[in-house]
Amino acid sequence: MSNAIIIVGGGPVGATLALLLARQGAAVTVLEARKQGAAYSESRALALSFGSRRILEKLGVWASLAASATAINTIHISQKGSLGRSRLHAHDYQQEALGYVLSYGALSAALDSALAEQPLVNFIFEASAEAIQHNARQASVTYRYHGESHSLDCALIVLADGGRSLDDIAGLSKETKAYGHDALITKVSAKLPHHNIAYERFTEKGPMALLPNGERDFSLVWTGKQAYIGALMTLSDAEFLTQFHQQFGDRVGQFLSVEKRMAFPLKLSQIKTLDIAHLVVIGNAAQTMHPVAGQGFNVGLRDAESLAQCVASSNLASLGSKKMLEAYQHSRQSDTKGGLLFTDFLVNIFSNDLIGLSSLRSAGLGLFDVIKPIKQHLVRKMSFGK
Ligand SMILES: Cc1cc2nc3c(=O)[nH]c(=O)nc-3n(C[C@H](O)[C@H](O)[C@H](O)COP(=O)(O)OP(=O)(O)OC[C@H]3O[C@@H](n4cnc5c(N)ncnc54)[C@H](O)[C@@H]3O)c2cc1C
Repeated sequence: MSNAIIIVGGGPVGATLALLLARQGAAVTVLEARKQGAAYSESRALALSFGSRRILEKLGVWASLAASATAINTIHISQKGSLGRSRLHAHDYQQEALGYVLSYGALSAALDSALAEQPLVNFIFEASAEAIQHNARQASVTYRYHGESHSLDCALIVLADGGRSLDDIAGLSKETKAYGHDALITKVSAKLPHHNIAYERFTEKGPMALLPNGERDFSLVWTGKQAYIGALMTLSDAEFLTQFHQQFGDRVGQFLSVEKRMAFPLKLSQIKTLDIAHLVVIGNAAQTMHPVAGQGFNVGLRDAESLAQCVASSNLASLGSKKMLEAYQHSRQSDTKGGLLFTDFLVNIFSNDLIGLSSLRSAGLGLFDVIKPIKQHLVRKMSFGK
């Protein structure tokens, strides 16, 4: 077998895993469908937790990213039509920040340049995996590169393709819950400065998050029923900003401009692996969550970190064995389940407009604001996944 580990998908999660593995002396091949540099112009925002920053710091990637990341020092949670609200401040938890906002493109560029300096990583751009097979001894991947088909065998294939390409792999089954909701994402500017405050706002139509991004701008994630979001997509910029102001309120003054809007369907999904060896799934390919609490990407990075630890404690003979993969799944169970349940809970409790629920929520936010252990728990969960 010529390869020990092959990662399919060199997005943020696959690339981070490659760097973690190389750092511990493991050689790895990454197959990435995109052309080099194709992701650098993606301006969509990622919410990075404080714990994820630490992972990137360990890899020497954070230093080049810090200047383009916007710190979230305060999270302000409120509900439309009620006085209940809660605030979380980084300094109350001895953290420099509660999290950061950065663009997918900036992160991809920083990871790629770290990878380029890593001789143990063979990163192949424009290599699109088409089929994965596995048996009790090994796994193999067939991929297309410059019009030709190639095949590689290895001890461990890590599927980190974002869940977009390879649906039909033996031993994997996907559980999906469609919310019937869409997320609209865009960037807006406002009259007042953001002061590094992120806003989570719950309305009867669905939750929205307004994240500080850059000197004065905000990234907006606005979720709601498909018809509602569909209608928002058709509005002129001025009409859209008026609607948004009505829902969000006056905390940052008038909204001045909005960039291109994009909408996508929301679903909760999780891959179940059925007692297999030599294949593991991580990142967005393993689980997708509602973006309301900014958990998904960070759970993916923690997948990479845990898997690298499991590889470090295996020898070549046990690499990719059922035992090793069971240990990995076990290490990820509570974080993944917690992240999925947590976001699902938030969506359900705050998106239902049942009589009585809204005053309960309002009281809940007020209570939440004064009960320190609950806030502490939430900050730990958002920052470190535990
Ligand atoms: C439209 C959209 C909006 C989002 N908005 C937010 C947000 O506002 N905030 C937030 O925190 N998170 C957001 N997310 C989630 C966030 O993007 C993911 O959590 C994060 O990108 C996960 O990284 P990943 O590496 O697992 O997957 P991806 O980023 O999807 O990367 C997968 C990589 O695999 C490659 N690939 C795919 N198929 C193949 C193949 N067959 N062969 C080889 N390579 C392949 C792709 O080219 C890509 O580079 C959003 C996701 C989507 C899809």
